[in-house]
Amino acid sequence: MAETAQATVVFGVLNETSDHESRVALTPDIVARLRKAGVSCLIESGAGVAANYVDEDYTKAGAEVVSADEVISRSDALGFIDRPDSDLVARLKPGTWVIGMLGSFTDADYIASLEQAGLVGVGIEKLPRQLSSAQSMDEMTSQNSVMGYKAVLVAANAYGSFFPMMTTAAGTIRPAKVLILGAGIAGLQAIGTARRLGAVVTAYDVRPAAQGEVESLGAKFLDLGLDFSKGQGEGGYARQLTPEEQAAQQAAVDEKAAGFDVIITTAKVPGRKPPMLLTKAGVDGLKRGAVIVDCAASELGGNVEGSTVGTQVTEGGVTIIGAPYLASEVTNTASNLLARNVADVLAHFVRDGKLTMDLSEELDNALVVAGRAEAPAAEGK
Ligand code: NAD
Repeated sequence: MAETAQATVVFGVLNETSDHESRVALTPDIVARLRKAGVSCLIESGAGVAANYVDEDYTKAGAEVVSADEVISRSDALGFIDRPDSDLVARLKPGTWVIGMLGSFTDADYIASLEQAGLVGVGIEKLPRQLSSAQSMDEMTSQNSVMGYKAVLVAANAYGSFFPMMTTAAGTIRPAKVLILGAGIAGLQAIGTARRLGAVVTAYDVRPAAQGEVESLGAKFLDLGLDFSKGQGEGGYARQLTPEEQAAQQAAVDEKAAGFDVIITTAKVPGRKPPMLLTKAGVDGLKRGAVIVDCAASELGGNVEGSTVGTQVTEGGVTIIGAPYLASEVTNTASNLLARNVADVLAHFVRDGKLTMDLSEELDNALVVAGRAEAPAAEGK
């Protein structure tokens, strides 16, 4: 293989420590890709094991497998899935670039703590997703797509009947009726997966543009009888509905939900509390044995009233699964996609063999959420 640019920027990845995380932010195929961009890689020993990559895979690909302390002391940039907690932030050396979903929309204190530690924060949540040059960096798209697929499998597993219609000698089983609320990246993938399993699928989204996408996948668009014709906000994303609109939406979803066996919710508004779409009254109206998977469940709340992370069964026999970490359960593929996203973000900032930002450039200006004073372009402002 022809030797390419001299690697001068050092990129490091540590073992992700949270209980729900089995993905890794660097996979062996990406090591070679980064090398071509002038980046050499360090990875903490064992960091890829939960995603089915052992140290030897990384060594063979050209990365150095070292201790966590060495990753921290030698790296110019670190890639994360879960942002580093305050203990880890305190261990990072000033000037280190921290790349990942940093929560800058909702947690200004955290971003201030990166600033105070002298770190440069690159927040992938700020990616201008409509930029075609940024699509390979879009971690939200890659991971939401994995999540939508897995949500259907989790729902099918918890559901006490078949998804497809099945004709047997002992009778015909009707197909499951599945409702997908939120037809963005995750919802569209969920529609496709549920249809491939043979369910009859209906979906709903507040963005008018979603109707055509839902129907093109062979699902029915749920008519709530409400007009949210301005449901699309900036950049093609949903806007937050007014309190009156939300109340009308909840009442309509509660009523329509009663006819479904499985409900999968993926509705979010970037940087805000997810909209509550199904209230307790709606859940209570479902048949015994119905299953809900709420992918928007989080400490900020979810799309379903009372959903929490984990599984609960209501008195009426409805299973509610709060499942924000589903991408991590498809660990190998989710890691491959995510590692490519993180690597492309990093490579974007490698210029003339150095990590450099130019805040007059749209992508740099959007992504750099801490340490902006480091940028030559910011001087004199
Ligand atoms: P998301 O995860 O923020 O939201 C999921 C879905 O929930 C969205 O479709 C949203 O409209 C919907 N939603 C929000 N509030 C709702 C409510 N009250 N009721 C019903 N549905 C509600 O979004 P996402 O899936 O990451 O992306 C949404 C859309 O953005 C995509 O479908 C796509 O059109 C666009 N997008 C464009 C690009 C690009 O141009 N490169 C990349 C990614 C996404």
